[in-house]
Amino acid sequence: MREIAAQLPDGAFVFTSNVDGHFQKAGFAPDTVWEVHGSIHHLQCAEPCSAHLWAADGFEPIVDPVSCRLVSPLPTCPHCGGLARPNILMFGDYAWQEERALSQQARCEAWLTRARKPMLIELGAGKAVATVRRFGEGLGYPLIRINLRDPDVGKAKHISVPLGALAALEGIEAALSCKQA
Ligand SMILES: [Zn+2]
Repeated sequence: MREIAAQLPDGAFVFTSNVDGHFQKAGFAPDTVWEVHGSIHHLQCAEPCSAHLWAADGFEPIVDPVSCRLVSPLPTCPHCGGLARPNILMFGDYAWQEERALSQQARCEAWLTRARKPMLIELGAGKAVATVRRFGEGLGYPLIRINLRDPDVGKAKHISVPLGALAALEGIEAALSCKQA
């Protein structure tokens, strides 16, 4: 993905429902990622007593491999001393603090207004929780849907690619390299 983005005049912005921070780990600048369901690398108060988030770096969970239970102390909120939790949106979760994701959203929307000829590459987005699919379809830009099981994307201006993500991305990158050579 980074190689493809590097060949585009306006680069790329990542919209992801993953919470693992792997796009940043892969080298995407943090200000070019929108983690719509939050991030496991940030903690918040479970209550919550405030909207404050902090890095989860200092929390080292020790889990009993037999019982699958945490045996080390639970993380606590530095403000009220109560229980802390990952800043990840769960089902029916009214305590999730969304400010960080909203800031990422604002950066994404600003990027979209600047980008010339935006298009989307959707990778393996599921139908069960269709957040990523709805986002891509709702923007109205040309969409390349890469999906082994459910590649159908409907409208004529979109492209269905029934491949795994890696094979499809390598193909797109090779095609871009040929065009620029
Ligand atoms: Zn608190």
